[in-house]
Amino acid sequence: MSAYFDHNATTRLDDAVLEAMMPFLRDEYGNASSRHDAGIRARKALNVAREQVAALVNVQPSQVVFVSGGTEANNMFVKGMASYLKPSQIAVSAIEHPCVMKPAATLARSGWKLRKINVDATGVIDMADVEAAFGEPTALVSVMLANNETGVVQPVGEVAQRARAAKAWIHTDAVQVAGKLPVDFEALGVHAMTLSAHKMYGPKGAGALVVDKRLPIKPLVGGGGHEHGLRSGTENVPAIVGFGAACELAAGRRQALAEHTAQLRDLIETGLVEIGATVFGAGAPRIPNTTYFAFQNIDGETLVIELNKAGFAVASGSACSSTSTDPSATLLAMGVDPDLARGAVRISLGVDNTMQQAQEFLIAIATVVDRLRRLTAVAV
Ligand code: PLP
Repeated sequence: MSAYFDHNATTRLDDAVLEAMMPFLRDEYGNASSRHDAGIRARKALNVAREQVAALVNVQPSQVVFVSGGTEANNMFVKGMASYLKPSQIAVSAIEHPCVMKPAATLARSGWKLRKINVDATGVIDMADVEAAFGEPTALVSVMLANNETGVVQPVGEVAQRARAAKAWIHTDAVQVAGKLPVDFEALGVHAMTLSAHKMYGPKGAGALVVDKRLPIKPLVGGGGHEHGLRSGTENVPAIVGFGAACELAAGRRQALAEHTAQLRDLIETGLVEIGATVFGAGAPRIPNTTYFAFQNIDGETLVIELNKAGFAVASGSACSSTSTDPSATLLAMGVDPDLARGAVRISLGVDNTMQQAQEFLIAIATVVDRLRRLTAVAV
């Protein structure tokens, strides 16, 4: 038996999503900017997708700017805003994804000041440090809605209130939350939000930056003026249609999916603790599908490889930085001991996972951990 437990890295394209995409991969190849019937049909399909994405996060369709994915949307916010504004401070949480952190670090080389806001031991942003950050004039703020490693949900609404009072523009990366918990752009009070289709059973290569219409943002990609002039380039109609279908699917099954994954996650987590795992972020509000843990003196990479051999696909640290063997920056920011952090393994569950897989996983990991502990004991 094998099982895929890495849904925060990416998800399987849902059958209903593929079905919605198929005509646009085959017969409906018109360019959405063309004036003939094929172009008009493509344009209509984009409009439907824009409505579906907008509905999921409670905005007007005109607020949705289609881009290639979460990485581009995050880069677009940071760099696109900075090219409009006078250099000032950009404040980001210390646990942002590299696609926020790296562009923010780039700004720091061109007159901006990068302020990383601390998180507490459970992985939640420290509101006192948010307050302290606003002690300096701040133009931009980016705080993710949930962390991709720990799954810990951040109090973005509170941060947004504070940012608005300080006249700062506030963005949230909601990539790991859309489809798992309700996401409401208006209720959060943010000015911009990032979404990615392939994290929610849609295709790779589509995502959105959802914007407040007053956002003073410049495009990163200039050209024919697509997407309200904010992102030129012929639209990837099949992927965008799939993104829209994935949003509609997510809206319909979110609650059931959350309950299903939470049940499996809780079972797995209880079993892991029983065999001595430390669970990171367990005391904080989390997205329902994620558990992030480590065993003392067991390397995370080794555990991932052994579990893979046993038929279970899990991640060590962040999948997006898996070429690096440094301990996770998120765990270090939480004050986790670097040696324990090197053991970090993430399980992120999804719609196809079953109770039987969860039970078999617990047997497999107990066996692997036991074997690795014996090896360590012999080596010592
Ligand atoms: N933001 C977060 C929190 C993520 O987890 C990821 C992907 O791992 C991204 C952004 C990047 O999204 P994409 O893969 O669509 O570029």
